[in-house]
Amino acid sequence: MTELELLKRIERRLPDSDTGGIVIGLGDDCAAIRTQSGEDLLYTTDLFVEGTHFERESLPARWAGRKALTRGLSDIAAMGGEPRFCLISLALPDWAGSRWVDSFYAGLAELAQQTRTAVVGGDLTKGNQLVCDIVVCGAVPRGQAMRRNGARPGDGIYVSGHLGGAALGRRTQSGAAGRCHTRPEARLRLGKYLRKRGEVTAAMDLSDGLSLDLFRLCEASGVSAVVDRPLPVFHGATIEDALHGGEDYELLFTAHRDSRVRRSFERVPLTRIGTVTSVSPPGVMFFGRNLKPGGWDPFRSNTDKCD
Ligand SMILES: [Mg+2]
Repeated sequence: MTELELLKRIERRLPDSDTGGIVIGLGDDCAAIRTQSGEDLLYTTDLFVEGTHFERESLPARWAGRKALTRGLSDIAAMGGEPRFCLISLALPDWAGSRWVDSFYAGLAELAQQTRTAVVGGDLTKGNQLVCDIVVCGAVPRGQAMRRNGARPGDGIYVSGHLGGAALGRRTQSGAAGRCHTRPEARLRLGKYLRKRGEVTAAMDLSDGLSLDLFRLCEASGVSAVVDRPLPVFHGATIEDALHGGEDYELLFTAHRDSRVRRSFERVPLTRIGTVTSVSPPGVMFFGRNLKPGGWDPFRSNTDKCD
């Protein structure tokens, strides 16, 4: 099959969704997007690499396509945005033939349609291993993106959903935890709700594990965190999974001490796990212990996590 034939097959698979503002979509040298006044565009890019982020045996093509987009959508959710469009490039090894590519795009297209994310461009090439690179663009009303840097001492620290399910699912490859691993969901509606409520002082998505992501939020805000309440651990997962497992794609956020954060949103629990403090330098205390950031980091081999 030639690249042109492959591209034609892919184009037929993609939803014909004009999410507004697309002047030129697929098929030209560039996509052209007309921006709307009164909004800020959010851009995020993500690499998804065989052997680093997934194994082909454990992630069917359909779910790989879905997950590649989910990772970007989760960043948009973290800032309270609505997705608009994406561009996706693939390097394909010999084992990923046209059936694999069809399934990959079927999964991607399904989620793109559900979330009203238009696919406006991309590239294809051959490679020794499968590499997927996705750029997702979203939008928020001007100046209203939720950021990581606004946490202040006294704020409550919250997480959505349950943590550790993806890590458990990587091991068991089955059941509800297996679905967390293969088909995580970006918290787009929750992110938008939190942004509109206006009580959130800082937010980010939990892609790399609570221990690492909470540390990042603290660093960005110049504060520390005390986690002294039970974590909402996914049924069957360990505390280690919940702290360091990563890939849960839940939202981590802080809210002013007087905020009335509800207990759940659309049946997703919102759990307070601790409090922001002014301790310097930034760090995370977990039930009296200093918690080292131990989540997913492809550049680190040693993962000793607690003092
Ligand atoms: Mg993120």
